[in-house]
Amino acid sequence: MIYLDNAATTKVFETAIDAANTAMREEYFNPNATYKYGVAAKKNIELARKTIADAVGAKSEELVFTSCATESNNWVFARGIKNAKGNVVISAGEHSSVYEAATALKNRGVDVRIAPLTPSGTVDENALYGLVDADTCLVSVIHVSNETGVINPIKRICKGVKARAPRALFHSDGVQAFLKCAEPLDGLGVDFYSASAHKLGAPKGIGLLYIKQGVNVAPFMCGGGQENGLRSGTQNTPYIAAYAAAVSQFKRDSDSAEIAAIRAELAEMFVKRGCKIVGDGENSGYILCVCVPGVKAEILQNLVHERGIIIGKGAACAGAKRGNRVLAAMGLSPKEIEGCIRISLFCDTARADAIAAAQIISETADKLRSGNVG
Ligand code: PLP
Repeated sequence: MIYLDNAATTKVFETAIDAANTAMREEYFNPNATYKYGVAAKKNIELARKTIADAVGAKSEELVFTSCATESNNWVFARGIKNAKGNVVISAGEHSSVYEAATALKNRGVDVRIAPLTPSGTVDENALYGLVDADTCLVSVIHVSNETGVINPIKRICKGVKARAPRALFHSDGVQAFLKCAEPLDGLGVDFYSASAHKLGAPKGIGLLYIKQGVNVAPFMCGGGQENGLRSGTQNTPYIAAYAAAVSQFKRDSDSAEIAAIRAELAEMFVKRGCKIVGDGENSGYILCVCVPGVKAEILQNLVHERGIIIGKGAACAGAKRGNRVLAAMGLSPKEIEGCIRISLFCDTARADAIAAAQIISETADKLRSGNVG
């Protein structure tokens, strides 16, 4: 199998599985218990938090473990707003966990404004600045698009927003950027940043929310006061250990320049075969969205699957929904969107595999177009 749907999820590193196993088999104690085994389990959580914080350029106290990035994003929208009378601005390129959380606010009467995208896939910065004002209480712009891999210049955007709306809190969904974009978190200037472990070689069901020191946010869940009173519920010690192990391994194994070179090679191959690369903004290097003319992505995806190649077709979480809101916001026609596939790489992607897969995808598309499949 050649797995090229790493933006949906990644294969779990053996080191992460081992870390989770040890936490379950030997260190299964409640981290909030006061006897020595509980204290040791708590210490392991703090070691894991520090490993992750050091890797991304944050302070340990700024990272709160959550169950997933969807939770982190929802938390920001449900509890991050100090002044419910203010307006909220998001980009049209947001993942559904931000988009739907903003829609829920809108349904409650909050003034939610949506900044358009440029055809390159980035948020239209001038339009975004035109939407923020002194009453803006929250702005959310995705760091790396899960659809196209295009990077929004978050540091600049955050600065631009704060210059116009000094009281606004700035959130970025960093799920596809976390450790894949070199900038340290503390240099971005953001107030909130969401991440998810399963995009980095750790299991599903663990994520985090970065909350900049000094930023006040109401707890997501009340109860026993875990996670510094911000997110009650007994911590998921096995997955927290796995998350830290995966972060360490990803830091060791990943070579962003190498991944970007593979992506560039694939893009060139597809362009030579008459395909269009979607989103020509600066790219993280891990995601390639290709518009294959004259085919339906779903059929292509199924056919190459039969040959052992797993690719995506838009965000997996949006799989059940029709169309693609983000690609439409970039100006793609429904017909073009129908033919868009998403190829996403990880540090374990071998160049030869990716090239072989691209070859098969192109041949299969040619056959589909000529009606020569079967
Ligand atoms: N945000 C982005 C950009 C994503 O790509 C995803 C997952 O695909 C999420 C949020 C949701 O992450 P999780 O699966 O941890 O809820």
